[in-house]
Amino acid sequence: MFWQAKTAIQKLRHLRLNGQQRLWKSMSTSARERATQYQPGQRIHGFTVREVVAVPDLFLTAVKLSHDKTGAQYLHAARDDSNNLFSVQFRTTPLDSTGVPHILEHTVLCGSEKYPCRDPFFKMLNRSLSTFMNAFTASDYTMYPFSTQNGKDFHNLLSVYLDAVFFPCLREQDFRQEGWRLENENPADPDTPLVFKGVVFNEMKGAFSDNERVYGQHLQNKLYPDHTYSVVSGGEPLAIPDLTWEQLRQFHATHYHPSNARFFTYGDLPLEQHLKQIEEEALSKFERINPNTEVPAQPRWSNPREDHVTCSPDALAPDQSRQNTLCVSFLLGDITDTFENFTLSLLSSLMISGPNAPFYKALIEPKIGTDFSSVVGYDGSTKEASFSIGLQGMAEEDTETVKHIISQTINDIIENGFEDERIEALLHKIEIQMKHQSTNFGLSLASYIASSWNHDGDPVELLQINESVSRFRQALKENPHFLQDKVRQYFKENGHRLTLSMSPDENYLEKQAKEEEEKLHRKIKGLSDADKTDIYEKGLELLAAQSETQDASCLPALRVSDVEPTIPVTAVQMGSAGGVPVQLCEQPTNGLVYFRAMCSLNTVPEELRLYIPLFCSVITKMGCGAMDYRQQAQQMELRTGGMSVSTQITPDSNHLDVYEQGVLLSSSCLERNLPHMFHLWSDIFNSPHFEDEERLRVLVMMAAQELANGISYSGHMYAMTRAGRHLTPAGDLQETFGGMEQVKFMKRIAEMSDLTQVLRALPRIQKLVLNPESMRCAINATPQKMSDTTVQLEKFMEGIAGSRRHHKPVKSNITEMPLDPLNESGPKRKLISELNFHPCPMKTFFTMPFPVHFISESVRTVPFSHQDYASLCVLARLMTAKFLHGEIREKGGAYGGGARMGGGLFSFYSYRDPNSVQTLSAFHKGVDWAKSGQFTQQDVDEAKLSIFSAVDSPVAPAHKGMSRFLSGVTDEMKQQHRERLFAVTHKSLVEAAGRHLSIAHRTCSVAILGPENDAVRKDPSWVVK
Ligand SMILES: [Zn+2]
Repeated sequence: MFWQAKTAIQKLRHLRLNGQQRLWKSMSTSARERATQYQPGQRIHGFTVREVVAVPDLFLTAVKLSHDKTGAQYLHAARDDSNNLFSVQFRTTPLDSTGVPHILEHTVLCGSEKYPCRDPFFKMLNRSLSTFMNAFTASDYTMYPFSTQNGKDFHNLLSVYLDAVFFPCLREQDFRQEGWRLENENPADPDTPLVFKGVVFNEMKGAFSDNERVYGQHLQNKLYPDHTYSVVSGGEPLAIPDLTWEQLRQFHATHYHPSNARFFTYGDLPLEQHLKQIEEEALSKFERINPNTEVPAQPRWSNPREDHVTCSPDALAPDQSRQNTLCVSFLLGDITDTFENFTLSLLSSLMISGPNAPFYKALIEPKIGTDFSSVVGYDGSTKEASFSIGLQGMAEEDTETVKHIISQTINDIIENGFEDERIEALLHKIEIQMKHQSTNFGLSLASYIASSWNHDGDPVELLQINESVSRFRQALKENPHFLQDKVRQYFKENGHRLTLSMSPDENYLEKQAKEEEEKLHRKIKGLSDADKTDIYEKGLELLAAQSETQDASCLPALRVSDVEPTIPVTAVQMGSAGGVPVQLCEQPTNGLVYFRAMCSLNTVPEELRLYIPLFCSVITKMGCGAMDYRQQAQQMELRTGGMSVSTQITPDSNHLDVYEQGVLLSSSCLERNLPHMFHLWSDIFNSPHFEDEERLRVLVMMAAQELANGISYSGHMYAMTRAGRHLTPAGDLQETFGGMEQVKFMKRIAEMSDLTQVLRALPRIQKLVLNPESMRCAINATPQKMSDTTVQLEKFMEGIAGSRRHHKPVKSNITEMPLDPLNESGPKRKLISELNFHPCPMKTFFTMPFPVHFISESVRTVPFSHQDYASLCVLARLMTAKFLHGEIREKGGAYGGGARMGGGLFSFYSYRDPNSVQTLSAFHKGVDWAKSGQFTQQDVDEAKLSIFSAVDSPVAPAHKGMSRFLSGVTDEMKQQHRERLFAVTHKSLVEAAGRHLSIAHRTCSVAILGPENDAVRKDPSWVVK
């Protein structure tokens, strides 16, 4: 239930193509072939087939239909992928900022005619094997997608989704819970002051604590000032209390209608069944209306405009004196022109992406700002697309310089164009994206076509990517200035452009709080005593409704017996190359080769540990061998699907105080480019460049900025990581590599005027880590390519043999584990064993410039192989669904909250929470609830189902065998865990809660990220940061 800002949508839309291929495909008629047999004009269950198009590049057949009676539009993508997807989207174009489409998105999920129980959507998460369930509110549409690999489940979920969107109850109480309400601070006490509450109200306050979102929202509102894009579809926190329940119902009647709907289905299930169910359960009950939801073209400006906005200061920004953002945004053409927009999005990549792009050279490298502005490049999420370019993290006095550089760079591009090799690299990237198989292909497609289709663009045309590529090549051939002409037309001679700057205001949060105070005061002023009594009573009613035991029996459900008893086995072979162990996994990869290497960190001394994540992020970006960093970037784009290095901490499955630490190298390429990919890695091993301080500074700044920006979005992860710090040695290292400690370290580095110290640290790490002595590799490729790949790998190993060195591990307590558990004498993983580690309870509070909190409490429990591990996994789900969700979200008003089990830690968390320490008592009450056993067998089964839907979520060919490679968890161990999950009982859950979570005998830690808190500050048991 996310309200998506433009930037988030852009990330989702990033094309990831190809899903799972079924191995038995050749034995039966494929879904794709069956679909080619539909005929235009054919009528099926109230629909008429309009078009049938084979799209071989994406291995699918598209069938376009329309519903005869209502005009509803339908697209089916038949593909031999068992991860079937459904989505329905409505064009929702609000003309005010009350957040009506967003609040509606939440309230339709609060119960419907056939399924009147509260929150059926959330409940289905536990009654289904769905691989994805969610709802999104974008600027101009609302989308409800789900996916599952199980046919019966698909039928169940479709029924719940259809009833939710077309026949919701939309009770006043739902509106008050999800939207906004006035309520006594403590609903049970009429003498406590009245305050605003509501899930969306708090969610949006949280969303606007993120400066990147604030900026993105303003930019869109001001670039399109004349219609729906000038308002906040998610809701402006202070405008939300202007919405009435009646307005919400009216919006539903006009917008959630089949005549305003677009249905999309994807996968290998038969289309007829979907059509029949949709017709019978929903569409047959409607007549056609004219929804009148079109977005008119934005009237064009003849002169550019400028504007300015403010935001809250960011305490974690790398440089306090440089917190300004400036960006120029251009209005482009209608997104329904597929080829024009294909061209513009390529053009945008050429102008911006990577160190060879002109704007990267002109804006990033002079270090005027820390990174591009949060909104950058081509954006096709609005009816007319836009292109933005600018910087964040800059000083105010550089404003004119930046504006000048932007217009100068545009002139330079018009003058000089782009190198052919860069254009080739970009087209190569598209080829890789089409071949790379992801597991959520259906969802990627749904997001990819959503915007254009929303404005009546042709979704089928959008899928025919190769045709756009050919047309693009042709256009370049006919006119070598094709791209330069576009730059002139859209950027030089375009009067509709906005220069928007943003600067921090010390009093920003204070002003916001004051405005809320005033709004509240105005609302309360007009209330009579009778109104106040009414508010108090409604508050009690809502509280009572929220506390009621829920009867969800009206909802369809899978049973635990519908779950496959065994997991499919992934065959891997163990071999070696140049003395290094290699895991080979044959997979239908569509002609791609995936290479990984795990390099141990055991020899890296303590003082270098904090630098490891920085090392990982720069090692493939500083240049290597004969190539400077620009040439290296170019070669990587031209020859690979990406090369990256990341930290890897793997807790042992038998002992909480044993773990493996390393860095993981990952890359992929088309089969024909394998020698090139290994050549690039050899250069990185043998002769990486570290001397360029200026280049390093650019990378450091961008990394620090990205970390600082991520906190308001994933604060709960930071809270959990911090809480785990003192509980296990692996948790401690996790905090060093990816927690608040790392964020603060990177901020310090970014503020240093002299990076010599860093430049000395990096080669030391490289010599210790990029070392065949302590390395193992994994290859995923097609059976046909495997033997050639091993030959190439052998050559690569010979080539880096010179970097082989023997170093002593820093810690003496090394435990060796066989890579293949069935071969005790074979190659080993070297784990660190800190059996004398003392877990200790800590309470840490990070004061942050947010109006909401992120809270976590972590409890040290048991490792993966322990008897009780399965019970604790089920318990986390059970407590989340049956207790914590109600306490933290429904009653507490937080955006989310729950518990999860991982790395031997049982962690409670809340997300965007208006409460601080009060939420800790909700966690404790959860434990009491579990120990008291106040749950049913049905509850236990639901929790198990939701675990299985995660355990059985599809794995792409690129990732098969990875858990074995990384953590030594074999299929046999997974099967044993699975059997333990099946065997979990009511009794074992109560016992596990008593044994491991009881306040009396547990070791736990707490961490909170949130605003200034006097109570915590005065309490000496807290460490305030
Ligand atoms: Zn929401």
